[in-house]
Amino acid sequence: MIKDFGSDNHAGICPEAWAMMEKANSGYADAYGNDDDSFRAADRIRALFDTDCEVFFVLSGTAANALALASLCKPYHAIVCADAAHIYTSECGAPEFFTHGSRLIPLPARDGKLTIAGLQTAAAMPNGVHQSKLAAVSLTQATELGAVYRPDELRALSGFAHDRSWKVQLDGARFANACAFLNCAPADISWKVGVDVLCFGGTKNGMGLSEALVFFDKVAAQEFAYRRKQAGQLASKMRFFSSAWCGALENGAWLKHAAHANRMALRLRQRIENLPGVELLAPTESNGVFVRLPAAVCAVLRSDGWLFQNFNSGVRIMCSWASTETDIDAFASAITDAIVSARKTV
Ligand SMILES: *Cc1c(COP(=O)(O)O)cnc(C)c1O
Repeated sequence: MIKDFGSDNHAGICPEAWAMMEKANSGYADAYGNDDDSFRAADRIRALFDTDCEVFFVLSGTAANALALASLCKPYHAIVCADAAHIYTSECGAPEFFTHGSRLIPLPARDGKLTIAGLQTAAAMPNGVHQSKLAAVSLTQATELGAVYRPDELRALSGFAHDRSWKVQLDGARFANACAFLNCAPADISWKVGVDVLCFGGTKNGMGLSEALVFFDKVAAQEFAYRRKQAGQLASKMRFFSSAWCGALENGAWLKHAAHANRMALRLRQRIENLPGVELLAPTESNGVFVRLPAAVCAVLRSDGWLFQNFNSGVRIMCSWASTETDIDAFASAITDAIVSARKTV
């Protein structure tokens, strides 16, 4: 049984991706993306999004976000994001570094979601020559707190941004989970609602090693090949990135795994939400449960080997493509037991 709910990137590579990587491991192939798997993976992504777009694979979400923003912004620009945004809290300044100075402007955001009111606040900030010029909005789908923007929300936010000539970047580390939750086509929450550049997460969804940077704005993609190379993100054996994508995109495995991870999170939530002392901190719309548990309960669970991270004032319980119903039910029982025994000792 797996007791690890620390992160969806603690899980391994899904079987569909692994099988295709194994296939790619026979014989020789050209390097740096000039191989059949890499051409095929990019074509699959274009087909999935039902549009002509530029696709680049990079090693991490941090690289994808930072290089995407660097393609959209100049050093004297500013980027609006939620205060919970991964680019603001967890990327060691990579966006500022790769943009050579663009400022991040974090806004208070409920469940990690930016609002029109938030963007209005940003638009009303001083914007003379002494301030960084606002040039981009960064949204996360699903958010760092497990919430999912609806297509209408995305359309309104990017409409507001584009009216002011700001670009829209979407951090989609869990984009697949959002597609699964909304039961919509990838296009419905990307280019059709105004997203200029998408960081399409593969790693957490079982593809193992890479993220796909998808440029719907082709002008922003100009010379990106050089930017990726200079940043050390052009993998020489690229086929082991792209073959995983081929495997996961074939027969809809990417969506199946995301939907499964979402279901596991919802299952856990439903088993624990009515227990005494359990306080849900965010909606469960993707593959994480954000909850406050009594400190004594967390201590008992951890001493029993259960793994989960502290997050804000509570904890973050992440499910993955590899979580099983058995794991979920065992964890729910362990939480229940810990609550019961903690109440007895009080
Ligand atoms: C995991 C994650 C990333 C990517 O992080 P890396 O560790 O750099 O791959 C980006 N954004 C969000 C919201 C994430 O959860």
